[in-house]
Amino acid sequence: MAVERTLSIIKPDATRRNLTGKINAKFEDGGLRIVAQKRVQLSKAQAEQFYGVHRERPFFNDLVSFMISGPVVLQVLEGENAIARNREIMGATNPANAAEGTIRKEFAESIEANSVHGSDAADTAAQEIAFFFAGIELVG
Ligand code: ADP
Ligand code: MG
Repeated sequence: MAVERTLSIIKPDATRRNLTGKINAKFEDGGLRIVAQKRVQLSKAQAEQFYGVHRERPFFNDLVSFMISGPVVLQVLEGENAIARNREIMGATNPANAAEGTIRKEFAESIEANSVHGSDAADTAAQEIAFFFAGIELVG
């Protein structure tokens, strides 16, 4: 196993309900370290670019509107197998399919307002971290 970094976003449905601490506890209890974190309001252009891979999907416009509906917490998580580990801690995209104890099972409101984003592979993790964080912000 290798130590990896992955991008996490605590989404507006969760910041609105003041769940940042509870979600961070899930990451930390799951063996991940929060090595960078900042709370921001995304612009429409930033959300569209970040989710550009989904541009052709029917839910794209709603997803962008949701992601700019309130502040998000951008994070870099670090640990052994962090990319896959974070996806396990998050649970399935649709909370109806998410396993017991996962963030999405416990906190998600819907398939769209599902509380967290996590990178899905090594290349996207590197791209997504670089999209939101400067090297000087990552101290490990
Ligand atoms: P994940 O976040 O689990 O990697 P995807 O990359 O497939 O999932 O989708 C990105 C985000 O788009 C999801 O987290 C969710 O907020 C939203 N989304 C995905 N599928 C749907 C859908 N069928 N209807 C509404 N929103 C969706
Ligand atoms: Mg995804």
